[in-house]
Amino acid sequence: MDNCIFCKIAAKIMPSEIVYEDDTLLAFKDINPAAPVHLLVIPKQHIGTLSDCGSADAGLLAQMLLLAPKLAKEFGCALTNDANNGLTGGYRTMINTGPDGGQEVYHLHLHVIGGPRPWRGRR
Ligand code: AMP
Ligand code: ZN
Repeated sequence: MDNCIFCKIAAKIMPSEIVYEDDTLLAFKDINPAAPVHLLVIPKQHIGTLSDCGSADAGLLAQMLLLAPKLAKEFGCALTNDANNGLTGGYRTMINTGPDGGQEVYHLHLHVIGGPRPWRGRR
């Protein structure tokens, strides 16, 4: 897609802070982070929205979602549970879809948001 900024990031025509890459996915830092950790996971292939996905994309969506806890661990916001402190850490995973969903970039992306609170303007 010629005019898609995330396709340009995937093609490395546009710079980004890449934190993960494999054959199908790319993850990079959000340029306007809402929290201490704010990463975006995208398919390299252009898909506009979650609503454009079908059963053929089930594996891709699973890969995107399952990358989140790995990135969270790498970036220090894994969910942990120990006898002394109970549940700590954790992160938010979010896919915004369409105008009412608050989607600004029409290339499917999964937000992975975490780190010590408070976070900017979000609960
Ligand atoms: P959404 O509202 O779900 O479409 O989120 C789009 C996200 O992309 C926002 O959090 C933006 O800050 C982020 N974003 C936009 N352009 C870039 C870019 N060039 N590099 C990294 N993140 C970006
Ligand atoms: Zn795209």
